[in-house]
Amino acid sequence: MMENYLELLELAKTYSMEYIEKISEKKPFPSKSEIQNLEIFDQPIAQNTMDEKDVLRQLHKYGAAGTTAQNGGRYFGYVNGGLLPIAHAAEWLVDTWNQNTALYTMSPTASKLEEICEKWLVDLLGLKKGTVAGFVTGSANALLCAFLAARHDIFKKKNYDVRIEGMRNAPKMRVVTGSQTHATVKKALSIIGIGENDIEIVPVDNNGSILVDQIPTLDESTLVIIQAGNVNGGGFDAINEICDMANQVGAWIHVDGAFGLWAQTSKKYNYLTKGIEKADSCSMDAHKTLNAGYDSGIVFCKNRHSLAEALQASGEYLQFGENRDGMQYVTEMSRRGRAIVLWAVLAQLGKDGVEQLINKLCEHTDYFANNLKNIGFKLVCPVSFNQFMIKCDSEEKTNNVLSYVQNSGICWCGGSRWQGESVIRISVCSESTSKKDLDQSLSVFESAFNLT
Ligand SMILES: *Cc1c(COP(=O)(O)O)cnc(C)c1O
Repeated sequence: MMENYLELLELAKTYSMEYIEKISEKKPFPSKSEIQNLEIFDQPIAQNTMDEKDVLRQLHKYGAAGTTAQNGGRYFGYVNGGLLPIAHAAEWLVDTWNQNTALYTMSPTASKLEEICEKWLVDLLGLKKGTVAGFVTGSANALLCAFLAARHDIFKKKNYDVRIEGMRNAPKMRVVTGSQTHATVKKALSIIGIGENDIEIVPVDNNGSILVDQIPTLDESTLVIIQAGNVNGGGFDAINEICDMANQVGAWIHVDGAFGLWAQTSKKYNYLTKGIEKADSCSMDAHKTLNAGYDSGIVFCKNRHSLAEALQASGEYLQFGENRDGMQYVTEMSRRGRAIVLWAVLAQLGKDGVEQLINKLCEHTDYFANNLKNIGFKLVCPVSFNQFMIKCDSEEKTNNVLSYVQNSGICWCGGSRWQGESVIRISVCSESTSKKDLDQSLSVFESAFNLT
């Protein structure tokens, strides 16, 4: 039995190493036939037991081929991060340990390392001492946690406990955000009972940043949501100024910094996130800019009690102790040990390593953008971080270039719409991207530009 187990792990290791060794040759997006081959999985569940090695073989042969090469250097779609070797290796250990991180008594190691990650990140981001961090799947869930804390706090000021009274007779809560707010912000709001028509939308400038003078009068029953890094053009809202406006009247201010909050760790880019410590809550991903692997998001809340009260769960068998019980700061109960991997990444990189990683991604972004401009593409907004958009003179040409690039098998990026026009989005989010990867990708764009 044990022998089989170890052999199976060896096989998984062999397959993983083969995948990693060939990642730079792998197409960033699977070919038509590789996608076609995924049909092999489309079968009724078997009656009989299958050999474990055959299961892995199938996954390796057909599953691996159908993946996008996010860990490679030429995948520029969405804001999908790559994978640092230390994150991958630590993940293997965490998988081996199979910890449930809900309570201290389920995993003292996970509890300790969540505590350390919280302390380190608060230091790294210059947040207020005592700020709590919850370790969740990603920013979509981090936003939900933060909004639950905000709602709890806003209602509490009116002596209304939403956990007891529910939403039926709840007092009014206002929500203000920019027209370029991320789709997951609206999704999280709808989950807490705020519909699209309830949201007061503020217009944005050409870079997608909120027009500060268009923000309506705020008050203490308002939740304001701004962003550090727009998912299309990478633009940042005026965090310092808007936080001051919110703080003056006691509104709750949240900063969605899924990928952009990492700017705060770089002396070169932290002007973009100036004032972040003034926010009541913020959220970011370790699986994007930090390349810590999926899935890893973090919610920060300045007031520990607001988050813990909003997410309270009780049950006779849930005994909270003096040590950190991770489930108090997230929506889930059982969770995997993602903070253990995060700890490994932060421990290995250190402050300098994190800063160098951010600077490298941004330097590559500038190189990419400048050379595309030289080819003849137009930058839709100035480049501020690791994210930008380009277009051509005609919409038709933009679309043709995009499909040429997507079918090239060399590099991959996605499309979007910006102010009613088709654009191409480029996100430089993988630590493994090299200058050679950028040059190879640039020549694809150049051929596309000249051919279409
Ligand atoms: C990616 C992103 C999100 C959602 O994050 P997930 O980690 O995918 O849940 C939210 N806001 C912004 C600005 C993002 O870029």
